[in-house]
Amino acid sequence: MTEAWGPEDGGRRAGGPVRVRVPAKINLHLGVGPLRTDGFHELNTVYHAVSLFDELRASHGDTLTLTMEGEGAGELALDDSNLVIRAARALAAHARVPAYARLHLRKSIPLAGGLAGGSADAAAALLACDALWGTGMPRDELAAIGATLGSDVPFLLHGGTALGTGHGETVSPILARPTTWHWVLAVADGGLSTPEVYRELDRLRDGSWPPAPLESADSLMTALRQRRPEVLGAALGNDLQPAALSLRPQLADVLKAGHAAGAVAGIVSGSGPTCAFLTRDANHAETVAAGLTAAGVCRQARTARGPMPGARVT
Ligand code: ATP
Repeated sequence: MTEAWGPEDGGRRAGGPVRVRVPAKINLHLGVGPLRTDGFHELNTVYHAVSLFDELRASHGDTLTLTMEGEGAGELALDDSNLVIRAARALAAHARVPAYARLHLRKSIPLAGGLAGGSADAAAALLACDALWGTGMPRDELAAIGATLGSDVPFLLHGGTALGTGHGETVSPILARPTTWHWVLAVADGGLSTPEVYRELDRLRDGSWPPAPLESADSLMTALRQRRPEVLGAALGNDLQPAALSLRPQLADVLKAGHAAGAVAGIVSGSGPTCAFLTRDANHAETVAAGLTAAGVCRQARTARGPMPGARVT
């Protein structure tokens, strides 16, 4: 029998089936420090969840299975390497319950796009299985499990706009008066591997002395509070952008085309190759998206709003 949880649980239900929606992220600021001895780079980033969603459905099963449709279907392995399966197994081990579920992923977030789709799916799986199995984990505990799967998972459980430190896994919400920002995401053909982009950054920085400092997010956070697209646009920054451009020089044409289409500002999203363009409002976003489409520089130009909540049972 399905047992309803109270509204204080955000509508989570023990029993299932369960459906979870999770957003993509862009980075409004991505400061990358030197490579640490543990293989991670120290980051100072401002995450921003946008309205491009993956959806994960979970129901009871006798084993753990995953099916999928949409972006990356037929390309992405559905075995133990998939972050959905890894997240389900990690939660089951932590909660000491059998990892049995039938999971179905409807993917709209492009693969290896710099939008943290894999981490988003891991966040969705943690939340969906927690509800399905009735394990009742507090969100912070889910975030701690998530951090072992990917640096962006804790943010995708939280959502909104937040500061990420450490290697991105330590998340603190940014309190600002609510403002909706309007974006256009220029989705590329084919992805970029995040580890390769970091390696390229290390290569580009190699030999520079003193080592590149870790840029603070202070000016971005000041700009966010002013709630003016021109001010926010001027403060956007991404240390990975030169590395992404070096590996994929065509991205310079995408950034130019967005500028020509009238965007307030444009930036490579995370490790790329998706480019994110800030616009003034919803109508302006449509105009910029049409300009990018007409320029033929990307596979798809999608409008999106932010900030959005993190993974939620719907
Ligand atoms: P980030 O912005 O966090 O660096 P990304 O958006 O560039 O990530 P993702 O789509 O998150 O890239 O995927 C990175 C890699 O993770 C993929 O190339 C794939 O091999 C692996 N992966 C495993 N499970 C998934 C999943 N469910 N969705 C997407 N990628 C997955």
